[in-house]
Amino acid sequence: MDSPLGPMPQPTLDDQEFWEACNRDELVIQQCAECGTLRHLPRPMCPKCYSLQYQWPVMSGRGTVHSYTVIHNPAHPALRDRVPYNVVLVELEEGPRVVSNVVDTPSEGIHVGMPVVVLFQEVAPGVKLPKFRKA
Ligand code: ZN
Repeated sequence: MDSPLGPMPQPTLDDQEFWEACNRDELVIQQCAECGTLRHLPRPMCPKCYSLQYQWPVMSGRGTVHSYTVIHNPAHPALRDRVPYNVVLVELEEGPRVVSNVVDTPSEGIHVGMPVVVLFQEVAPGVKLPKFRKA
C-alpha cells in the first residue's frame, strides 16, 4: 500500500517470509529444498528442478555493487523530495542479486564492485527495508 512515506511492501504468499525476516533484521533468500538453488525474487517453483519445496536460509548480508543508477525523476510522487537517490543491484556473496539502495554514501561515491553490507531501515512503524552501506 502507498503511504506518505513512500511505496510500502505488499507481501504475498510468495514473499511474506522475506519481509518478515527483514523485520527481524535478517536477509533471507528463498532456496530450493531439493536441489539447493537460491532464487530471488521468491516464487513457488524452482526454475531448475521444478520442486515446490523451499526454505529460507539467512544470508551473510555481504555483497558487492553489481550495477547502479542515480534517479533524478522520482518513480513515485512520495519520492520527489528524495531525488537524487541511488538504486543499486547488489550481488550477494551467496550469488543472488537484490535491488536496494546504498545509504550513508553520496551517489558519486558508489562504484561497481564496491563491497557493501546489509542493514535494515525502519521506514514506517513495523516495516523494515533492506538497505546497504559501504563495507
Ligand atoms: Zn531445485
